Amino acid sequence: MHELSIMQSALSLALDQARQAGASRVHTIRLRIGALSGVVPDALEFAFEVLAPGTLAEGAKLAIEHVPARFWCAACTREFQSDDMFAECPDCHRLSGELRAGREMELASLEID
Ligand SMILES: [Zn+2]
Repeated sequence: MHELSIMQSALSLALDQARQAGASRVHTIRLRIGALSGVVPDALEFAFEVLAPGTLAEGAKLAIEHVPARFWCAACTREFQSDDMFAECPDCHRLSGELRAGREMELASLEID
């Protein structure tokens, strides 16, 4: 399962940061997930339930922030949103290949004690 290894690296990054900050507990781990990242949020939550016990993040809340995909149309010099890989500009209806956001899979923030 793809999400298990993604969650494992996100969690170890979060735990490193928590340890560096001298935390005794992690309350919330907030992840930023792009619409086109290919990550299934439910599977991430499941992976978190499997991986968190026994760590500082045991019992922590996993908060997932969704990032919509944003494309750039060079002809209209505007940005637009789409959840599809192939996005059509709403103004000129050309296909835009330039993805500006939506592939994120990153640790956004951490709430610790
Ligand atoms: Zn356009």
